Amino acid sequence: MRHLIFVCPNTHLNVQHSLDEDDNTDQNEFTAISCPACTRLHFLSRKTGQLLGTGAAPKN
Ligand SMILES: [Zn+2]
Repeated sequence: MRHLIFVCPNTHLNVQHSLDEDDNTDQNEFTAISCPACTRLHFLSRKTGQLLGTGAAPKN
């Protein structure tokens, strides 16, 4: 289980999301997650944990 934290683009809240480790999953693909902050769907890169289309650099 991986824990990713992203910033919801709608509410600008930090959201933690858990991803199942899946060896059969292409790490380049995006996964749709239901955002608990805004209840909408966001697409998250399984590889980088970044949201699709934001272009924002991850916080260190
Ligand atoms: Zn959201």
